[in-house]
Amino acid sequence: MSLIVQKFGGSSVSDAEGIKRVARRIIDTKSAGHDVVVVVSAMGDTTDELLDLAGQLTTKKAPAREMDMLLSAGERISMALLAMAIDGLGAKAASFTGSQAGMMTDAIHGKARVIEVSPKRVRRAIDRGFVAIVAGFQGMSKESRDITTMGRGGSDTTAVAMAAALGADVCEIYTDVDGIYTADPRVVPTARKIDTISSEEMLEMAASGAKILHLRCVEYARRFGVPLHVRSSFSTNEGTWVLPSPDDQIKIQEGEPLEQPIISGVAHDRSEAKVTVVGVPDIPGKAAHIFRVIAGAHANIDMIVQNVSRSDTGRTDISFTLPMVDGEAVKEALRSSQEEIGFQEISYNENVGKLSLIGAGMRSNPGVSFTFFEALHQAGVNVNMISTSEIRISIVTDADKLDDAVRAIHAAFDLDTDDEATVYGGTGR
Ligand code: ASP
Ligand code: MG
Repeated sequence: MSLIVQKFGGSSVSDAEGIKRVARRIIDTKSAGHDVVVVVSAMGDTTDELLDLAGQLTTKKAPAREMDMLLSAGERISMALLAMAIDGLGAKAASFTGSQAGMMTDAIHGKARVIEVSPKRVRRAIDRGFVAIVAGFQGMSKESRDITTMGRGGSDTTAVAMAAALGADVCEIYTDVDGIYTADPRVVPTARKIDTISSEEMLEMAASGAKILHLRCVEYARRFGVPLHVRSSFSTNEGTWVLPSPDDQIKIQEGEPLEQPIISGVAHDRSEAKVTVVGVPDIPGKAAHIFRVIAGAHANIDMIVQNVSRSDTGRTDISFTLPMVDGEAVKEALRSSQEEIGFQEISYNENVGKLSLIGAGMRSNPGVSFTFFEALHQAGVNVNMISTSEIRISIVTDADKLDDAVRAIHAAFDLDTDDEATVYGGTGR
């Protein structure tokens, strides 16, 4: 008998039918002799709808504490309904809010980080034969005792944190596709399902905008050695295993090549904006100052590029990308330090998209960059920014060129298959 944490995303529980299907699935696992802890997201697009609603009530930014109070309600609805559905099918279930489940976080509303997990009530519920259902994406600040949320898609992180704290054997992440694909099957229908992927590559994929797993969930799973199994709640197909340590790579099936593929996939991201700080004095300390100001606004930035300094002016431009949702706060913070830093202006562009090619095999295979940029050229895609790591190449391009770029790169690296991937539900919103 093992302990399995199962996380169900919003599209798996978007209506009563979906909730019943998920309930049956949970009971099947329980009947097979396993203990089950379930983490559930808000139904369908509930979180977006709550955000839209809040947006209609305030012209300025809503108070962060109240926003978290509001958004955490979405998961409360789905957890209670799921518990009822399980009860209706004759099994025992009890639902818990994040704070009842012992998810203690810091006090940064909207992107709280886990500080401590003490799932005593969850443990007691399982010991008494219950399916414990935990509301995803929320916790309670240890300091203020206020309800917090962990950022969009945060239920994955709740699931892994629960799995780690309870010593679960596996954390199953149920979604509306059969696993992790070489590209988003909504953009590339011929994308291929990946059977196993290292957490290192998965980290790069998630950081590059692959929405299938929350970045922090992958980091957490890697850190605590939790094996992740990403699979569909609409089918019983084996999904994708994300293996926390390289030693676990030996899940190689007979007949499979022993060397890992060069490329594991193409990720894209439409949620970022590009900021250019124009005319920064080219002297030591200015970049540090800029990024200190940005850090103060709690924004996670990416892809930093500094232009060659113009010798006539002694000034340079510094560009970076950041999540659009942090755009206003960062612009404001920079403006209020404009005089001190001494830059000339800020330009801000939300009409951009990021594409990333990821593969651990890039390390030892020359020619990847050439194939990459040649494919973009053939597809008529203009590159605005470039950044690389040992196992990733990323570019920023115009938003309306992004889908073409993804398909071109996917094809250039022979990642296409003949059969189309099944997308069972969800809007990918
Ligand atoms: N319901 C939240 C969201 O839509 C959390 C989650 O789905 O993981 O972002
Ligand atoms: Mg969601």
